[in-house]
Amino acid sequence: MKIIKLQDLYFTPFISKDKISKIVKHLAEQVKADLPKDEVPIFVGILNGCFLFAADFIREFNGNCEVSFVKLASYQGTSSSENVKQLLGINEDLTDRTVIILEDIIDTGTTLQEIYNIFRNKNVKQLKVVTLFFKPDVFRKELPIDYIGKSIEDKFIVGYGLDYNGLGRNYPAIYQLTTKPKMKNIVLFGPPGAGKGTQATLLKEKYNLVHISTGDVFRFNIKNETELGKLAKSFMDEGDLVPDEVTINMLKAEVEKNATANGFIFDGFPRTESQAIALDEFLAEKGEQINGMVALEVPEDLLVERLLERGKTSGRTDDTDESKIRNRFNEYNTKTAILKEFYQAQGNYFGINGVGSVESITVSLSKVFDTL
Ligand code: AMP
Repeated sequence: MKIIKLQDLYFTPFISKDKISKIVKHLAEQVKADLPKDEVPIFVGILNGCFLFAADFIREFNGNCEVSFVKLASYQGTSSSENVKQLLGINEDLTDRTVIILEDIIDTGTTLQEIYNIFRNKNVKQLKVVTLFFKPDVFRKELPIDYIGKSIEDKFIVGYGLDYNGLGRNYPAIYQLTTKPKMKNIVLFGPPGAGKGTQATLLKEKYNLVHISTGDVFRFNIKNETELGKLAKSFMDEGDLVPDEVTINMLKAEVEKNATANGFIFDGFPRTESQAIALDEFLAEKGEQINGMVALEVPEDLLVERLLERGKTSGRTDDTDESKIRNRFNEYNTKTAILKEFYQAQGNYFGINGVGSVESITVSLSKVFDTL
């Protein structure tokens, strides 16, 4: 999950889809458990925000029930008071019924007050209120709320039915308002030998970014015989990927070392889907994001030649043996290449022809960097 932008504002992931499902399930179970065995309640969802919550809640409510939706609209009649609301949508006779209100969020309690006022004259048997989210710090009423999914601090949230200027309701998770990201973070992508390292060295100067090459960090650790180096060596020598957990922790530590950076060029990371997810989450926690994945596209045969050539001078053991090189491509094709789709799905993939002179490729890359 990454930061989202809605009109002029940025929102960072706050409550995941899975977490929401658990909260909703728990609420539905509690409500069910408190009802008399044969009671058929009528759930009343308060539109628009509750539509996803209501749909999920009702599916988790394990029993017969009726469902209705209402909208509270400002009363457009003779009243001079702006605050009086009118209920649109209830056609059912609610006499002697158990009515259970479903709200997505209760903050100051103004809407809740309206609901209590309106249902007071409907001769219901009982009225209960279920809210998915509750903001205790701003709630100013002495009104009962029977079931609360989760209490949250007073920050503006969107997603899972909740909106900002009508947008954001479609996201399956909840996002919280955050400040505008300050960094420019770019994933420089491509198969082994595509020229990522060469280009990153040039581009980091031009854009004043910090270049993190996970391969370089591993080689540094191997040279200095650190624990991390010892661990990574056996994998690297074979051309296998180093396990995700090790690599992700190392990457995070490298980012933390550069707290004042304007941004990063990530080279050789992420290489698996879980690394990409971890990177998005890690950056989102900081109110930052990946601005784009820029990929150097080069045919594989050309790459093997390039790597063997590089192996003559690079001192890299994984560049000299063709079978190890082939294994690196195998790793790339089975675990890493899919990241193209991952970033494409975010609208963040930019492919560049990686065949040509170093200078001409820098020019092509810069054109993309400038737009990010
Ligand atoms: P590179 O210098 O990017 O070609 O990386 C050389 C080797 O370091 C790879 O073949 C892997 O064994 C290891 N490595 C570098 N980055 C990663 C990563 N993100 N995930 C797993 N292994 C990595």
